[in-house]
Amino acid sequence: MNNTLITLENLQKIFLTEEVATHALSDISLTINKGEYVSISGPSGCGKSTLLSLLGLLDTASSGKYKLANQDVSNIPKRERARIRNQEIGFIFQSFNLISDLDVEENVELPLTYRSDLNKTQRKQLVKEALAKVDMAHRSKHYPAQLSGGQQQRVAVARAIAGRPSILLADEPTGNLDTKNAEAVMDLLDKLHAEGATICMVTHDPRSAERSQRKIDVLDGRVVSDKTVKRGQV
Ligand code: ADP
Ligand code: MG
Repeated sequence: MNNTLITLENLQKIFLTEEVATHALSDISLTINKGEYVSISGPSGCGKSTLLSLLGLLDTASSGKYKLANQDVSNIPKRERARIRNQEIGFIFQSFNLISDLDVEENVELPLTYRSDLNKTQRKQLVKEALAKVDMAHRSKHYPAQLSGGQQQRVAVARAIAGRPSILLADEPTGNLDTKNAEAVMDLLDKLHAEGATICMVTHDPRSAERSQRKIDVLDGRVVSDKTVKRGQV
């Protein structure tokens, strides 16, 4: 059985602004298997967020190949890219990115409303399951401003997992949280991983990186270290 979820081959990303060309990513090649929990670390500006945006189909590479679930997604039309992103990718941001006018339930449901393969009953069911998983079902009618940062990030995690994506991408998910709330969000990611989720997380926090099973270090747009950590049964 083919266990590979993601293959990147010689991926490059160059940002052109006025006269300046920034080589954000130079020649990235890597594979991510189903069920892996990968962390990506490296100094500010080394290309971590750019890499995550490419993985999440939020942006396209300047050159190179990206295969997701055996499909070449490097050069597909924008509409198709959006459809695959909606169905296969769950994104968690540092700043939660919840919509303040929508309550918790509506925030989690929002990305599902773009899915033509789901009807309203199915959407409601997925929202319910996701909120239960992050232990926020009791806050479903609250608005983001009524929640703590940790609770908001748990809602954002629910929004990311509700559509049952193939991979969960997280860009500094604990960057805006105090230690206690950060721990709770990391515990939640551990639980989702134990239940089978594939996770790729950008972090500059060594303690968060310790939670992952595979640590990738990026420097100047290149992978400089890629280590799989063997863990005993906990
Ligand atoms: P990190 O997340 O590791 O801090 P980024 O991926 O955000 O790094 O940025 C990598 C490099 O690409 C930086 O030099 C940054 O200034 C540049 N960059 C990122 N996004 C853009 C953009 N949209 N336009 C121009 N340059 C960009
Ligand atoms: Mg970044």
